[in-house]
Amino acid sequence: CLSRLKKYNAQVNAFIEVQKEEVILQKAREAENRINEGINNKSLDGIPIAYKDNFCTQDLTTTCGSNMLRNFTSPFNATVVELLRDAGSIIIGKTNMDEYGMGAFGPVYNPHKIISDQESNIDKYEKRVAGGSSGGSAAAVASGMCFAALGSDTGGSVRLPASYCGVIGFKPSYGLCSRWGLIAYANSFDTDSTSLSPKLRAFNSLISRNSPLNKNNPLDLGGLRVGVPKEYMVSELSEPIIKLWRKGISFLKSQGAKIISVSCQNTKYALSTYYILAPAEASSNLARYDGVRYGYQSEKDSSQLINDNDNDNEDTGLLYANTRDEGFGIEVKRRIMLGTFTLTTGSYENYYLRAQKIRKLIQLDFNKVFQGVDVLITPVTISISPKISDYNNDNFLNFYVNDIFTIPANLVGIPAISIPFGKLHDYPIGLQLMSQYGDDLTLFKVAKILE
Ligand code: GLN
Repeated sequence: CLSRLKKYNAQVNAFIEVQKEEVILQKAREAENRINEGINNKSLDGIPIAYKDNFCTQDLTTTCGSNMLRNFTSPFNATVVELLRDAGSIIIGKTNMDEYGMGAFGPVYNPHKIISDQESNIDKYEKRVAGGSSGGSAAAVASGMCFAALGSDTGGSVRLPASYCGVIGFKPSYGLCSRWGLIAYANSFDTDSTSLSPKLRAFNSLISRNSPLNKNNPLDLGGLRVGVPKEYMVSELSEPIIKLWRKGISFLKSQGAKIISVSCQNTKYALSTYYILAPAEASSNLARYDGVRYGYQSEKDSSQLINDNDNDNEDTGLLYANTRDEGFGIEVKRRIMLGTFTLTTGSYENYYLRAQKIRKLIQLDFNKVFQGVDVLITPVTISISPKISDYNNDNFLNFYVNDIFTIPANLVGIPAISIPFGKLHDYPIGLQLMSQYGDDLTLFKVAKILE
């Protein structure tokens, strides 16, 4: 992994910070000793894992891809980081991401051609994106710089880059992983949000155990009901992706699954609902970056206009404004403006509350559908990875549509997984499976067959 990292990271831009080589090698030796001696073995001994740079780590900086946290080092590790470390894995580094998880475009290059072509050919084609916001994590796995990487999936940020880069991307049921130490974007979507109690976890595993697939031979799909939601056939979908989708459906059918056409009527509102609710939560979460408690602080002299001690508040106001102006990038500012707007009196009822009600309707749709099917199969993305040159600041709205297939699972809280399913124009592309809340295990099993 280290040698691949050294070879490709300069072109792929997957890592923001890499763990010191001597630390990695020391941990690897310790793990190797444990394995050789056969005592105190741990389940993930020696496995190199990378973390998206919004998971807090004590040893490495946690920047969230933002100037605001450029030099920030957390005093604690995120729970998921601790758990994976205690299981014997090695932190290889922190991966690149769209600032605060907002975007689908990513500052990372798609590693696909970079690693498959001769080095001399690299400049001969136009570079494509790895996707975002967990683009660094997907690209790091795809180029063999680590065995696995953690991302966060608020609206598809794990599944979308996984599809573009040709790796598996999994978003668990909401609440299944702790979000302690994950820097918040939108709390009610971030999967890894607030954890479930042990009692609810037990209930969840019961759902999984009762599903037909887990009762039968795990590699036989007989009895499994696969739903194809009509509403996912959107006009943005290109013919080759529709073909790929059909191929996935026929494959599951050939393995003994029963295919059923289903309808989630309100799904057509999912994208706009998400882009009202997520920025609203983000605007509130990001209010904490005030230039005082931690993170970036503007060096502009905010007292230059006011020298009167009675005007302390205005001083602080200027510091706050300057810090946020210099610390946040354009997409984050756009989300803060949008979110603040929808939360103000006057627009709150028309936008925020209405979006909450629609979210509920979308949840009810899915609940109903899962009474008749075990999993849903859909595309993950509307296209293969776009070219870097396709995106500029004037066409950002066109890019929100990239999330059209991933967002419903976040609104509803259900598990979803993106599985590599062939190539188009020589670039990888995935298919998505979704299952009922808590039924993550069935998802894994069907995914394994589709893979
Ligand atoms: N494109 C989505 C957004 O910008 C992705 C969010 C995510 O999953 N972190 O909101």
